[in-house]
Amino acid sequence: MPDKISLLPDHIANQIAAGEVIQRPASAVKELLENAVDADATEIKLIVNDAGKSLIQVIDNGSGMSETDARLSFERHATSKINTIEDLFHIRTMGFRGEALASIAAVAQVELKTKRESDQAGVLIEVENSTVIRQEPVAMPTGTSICMKNLFFNVPARRNFLKTNAAELRHIIDEFTRVALAFPLVFFSLTTNGQQMFHLEAGTLKQRIIQLLGSNYNAKLVSVKEETDYLNIHGFVGKPETAKKTRGDQYFFVNNRFIRSPYLNHALMNAYNQMIPSESFPMYVLFIDLDPVQVDVNVHPTKQEIKFEDERIVYAFVQAAIKHSLAQFSITPTLDFDLDASIQQLPSIQQPFTEKQQWATKSSSIFEGFTQQHQAHSISSSPGQSERPWKSLLDELPREPVPGQEPDFRAQPQNTGFLKSVSPASYLHDAQHTQINNTYILVPSPAGFLLIHQQAAHERILYERMNEALTGKPVATQQSLFPVSIDLVPADAAILEEVLPELRLLGFMIEPFGNNTYVIQGTPADVEQGYEKNTVETLLDQYKHFSNDVKFSKREKLIRAAAWQQSIKPGKRLTEREMRILTTDLFASGQPNIAPNGSPVFLEFKNEQLDKMFGR
Ligand code: ADP
Ligand code: MG
Repeated sequence: MPDKISLLPDHIANQIAAGEVIQRPASAVKELLENAVDADATEIKLIVNDAGKSLIQVIDNGSGMSETDARLSFERHATSKINTIEDLFHIRTMGFRGEALASIAAVAQVELKTKRESDQAGVLIEVENSTVIRQEPVAMPTGTSICMKNLFFNVPARRNFLKTNAAELRHIIDEFTRVALAFPLVFFSLTTNGQQMFHLEAGTLKQRIIQLLGSNYNAKLVSVKEETDYLNIHGFVGKPETAKKTRGDQYFFVNNRFIRSPYLNHALMNAYNQMIPSESFPMYVLFIDLDPVQVDVNVHPTKQEIKFEDERIVYAFVQAAIKHSLAQFSITPTLDFDLDASIQQLPSIQQPFTEKQQWATKSSSIFEGFTQQHQAHSISSSPGQSERPWKSLLDELPREPVPGQEPDFRAQPQNTGFLKSVSPASYLHDAQHTQINNTYILVPSPAGFLLIHQQAAHERILYERMNEALTGKPVATQQSLFPVSIDLVPADAAILEEVLPELRLLGFMIEPFGNNTYVIQGTPADVEQGYEKNTVETLLDQYKHFSNDVKFSKREKLIRAAAWQQSIKPGKRLTEREMRILTTDLFASGQPNIAPNGSPVFLEFKNEQLDKMFGR
């Protein structure tokens, strides 16, 4: 058997999108799993310790390497996957740059064992600081085992930059999930700190989705399959009622490569148009296959972004295929697929369906955790539960003014007249409070009146309290009389682990119970009995929602999520006493005029401005 790996000549190497390949344990996991897939393995085992910081090992039963190839594989631009510039346009493998092993060998202690079917013995090579320090024959089955220890041992700055184990493990699970979804015919397992987290037998895509993303999707998947000369699409989308408030379970693969594409995501969201509440996210696992000539995968160092030769075709195709599938499973009104857009907009076509679907969504995702006993009376009045996607709610809050239309009575973030002119506590004690549309509170002020957004106000108050709780005054916990347990998918369990200590300070007593199950022993006093599980679930959902936002610290994300979760929502009727407590607490807080998300909490309307508007 001839050797396969060669060094790319400079003129090709220079064509390759350069960049840092290994940023964290999960990037190494991705590269090693992809190498195993490229070697045609049918069994791939991933083992990590300390979230990959101390050990990442991938064992495959793929093609293996010759002794020479094994040596060469650690060189930069050493690859068996391309030879010529022309090959760059026909890539079918996951890798092609010949950089991963070289990058890994530069930042970790690596042991490679590999054997081809045709060879008697395998070879073991140990590399440290990019130098081979040991090489010897080894007895082993066909395939490759690559083991990297102490990632960034020689780059302390990078090592310190790594996040907590829970956070790094979550990234690893994400990468593992993406590769395992793309290759359901391959057996995968993931073992962390000696415990097997996933054991995925080869099977159908549907089985794989359910194993990885949770059995909630069982019977809730709509199959998608369309084939044309130009491209094929297959996979599954979730029925509208499975849409979540976070962008979690959304996967596009192009020629089996996971990609991020806001553009294609938009196409998909359009196909769901009107079927799901706005700002909620349907699940999808979709595979688009087309001639590699039509795709440039060489635009980004981690290969998660690609460029289509003609992205509009792909957009239109994705949208039509999904509409078609949803229609066939009579989830959309019949024939909606062929109707023209103006007809689709007619209320008679949309409304009966939309309301029903929205109701279905509410009753499944928001209320799913309730016992029968609670169900009967709890749906109508659900304190602290959101009936609406929160993002749309934010969108309704005053935003940047439209130029030319700027109302000059907008809240002045730093010093509003109200705050300067009176002592709010004594003033509010006697002022008349009126609720408007169950959303706003109107209070006269010495110079006019204030219009206060009830949720924004409450979020601000809770935000400050929680901030204090995390710095020394923990929130009191109310022990649950009947502790409820909560089962999470591994990815969510990893998130929960990450925030358990802070949650305790916020009044949540949650104990791990093994196997991604947790028991809620206690909650903050204002969470009603019976809502514990739901509260924790929405909180997690909201935290995930912020997790894509790298600019926030974990603490900030958690407080924002919890403040949002526990705040009074628009639509909640308040007594005058409740309003008074709310406004008094608000003006006693350090920064009453801005909500945690930066929108104004209240607007002050001054008498002169009102007079002017009335032409007086
Ligand atoms: P690339 O995947 O871009 O070619 P890598 O640095 O990841 O670059 O790997 C270099 C080469 O080593 C690959 O082209 C392949 O020939 C070989 N190789 C790496 N991992 C394996 C494996 N698990 N089984 C067989 N060959 C492998
Ligand atoms: Mg590779």
